[in-house]
Amino acid sequence: MSRVALVTGGTRGIGEAISAALKTAGRTVIATYIGNKTAAENFTAVHGIETIKFDASDYGQTIDAVRSITNRLGPIEILVNNAGITRDATITGMTRDMWEIVIDTNLGSCFNLCKATFDGMKNRQFGRIVNIGSINGQAGQYGQVNYAAAKSGIHGFTKALAQEGARFGITVNAIAPGYIDTDMVRAVPPDVLKKIVTRIPVGRLGKANDIARGVVFLTADEADFVTGSTISINGGQHMY
Ligand code: NDP
Repeated sequence: MSRVALVTGGTRGIGEAISAALKTAGRTVIATYIGNKTAAENFTAVHGIETIKFDASDYGQTIDAVRSITNRLGPIEILVNNAGITRDATITGMTRDMWEIVIDTNLGSCFNLCKATFDGMKNRQFGRIVNIGSINGQAGQYGQVNYAAAKSGIHGFTKALAQEGARFGITVNAIAPGYIDTDMVRAVPPDVLKKIVTRIPVGRLGKANDIARGVVFLTADEADFVTGSTISINGGQHMY
């Protein structure tokens, strides 16, 4: 029986490419979203992948959703924590609400989803978790103290949980994408984006599939010796 893979924010952008690539790799995929029903319906029409709507930053909604997925499809053995948002401003203009929603959505959702699935993975001695971080969590970014803190937190979270999972056949890794051509990046003003591209050694924005290929690698059954790592997929923009 094919393994069940849950991709948060799996209906658009990078998540859409991850969901599609995992399906191609033979997984039973379910993609989550929070509010864009039209995008979710288009996604299902194009890829034939089921979706479920819940707020991954809300603990109660997450626990209920994971229970209902598990009852219907079986245990979640592959988890991709991809849901993410930005609310950019310098600290002068950033409100407490902008701080909280970005921390809760990007980082809190990782806790919620891992909490809901980890013990099941432990009992079955198998699990693959991939958390989507960001180049801006590694290097920082002007106007993004909330987002950089959340993404940087994901990298620490990944290394800590990898240590807890290692003896139980569970790997926990992160991918830190550079600038990828999705709605999130299209929201950046064109002049700023142009400057960003000049700083990418390969000379282009990334594609969602560049990230999806990394997820397929990390979630393979054979990838059981890769854990606690962060793979940077950024066109050489940040090397360290
Ligand atoms: P998009 O904005 O294109 O898509 C975001 C997805 O997340 C949507 O499916 C959205 O649902 C969903 N989502 C947002 N909030 C929630 C929530 N609270 N609960 C459940 N789902 C939610 O993002 P990208 O594809 O650009 O980014 C994907 C991930 O990659 C994010 O974590 C982002 O931070 C990270 N990243 C992106 C980079 C880029 O250059 N694009 C660079 C580095 C990292 P809905 O459709 O309903 O709104």
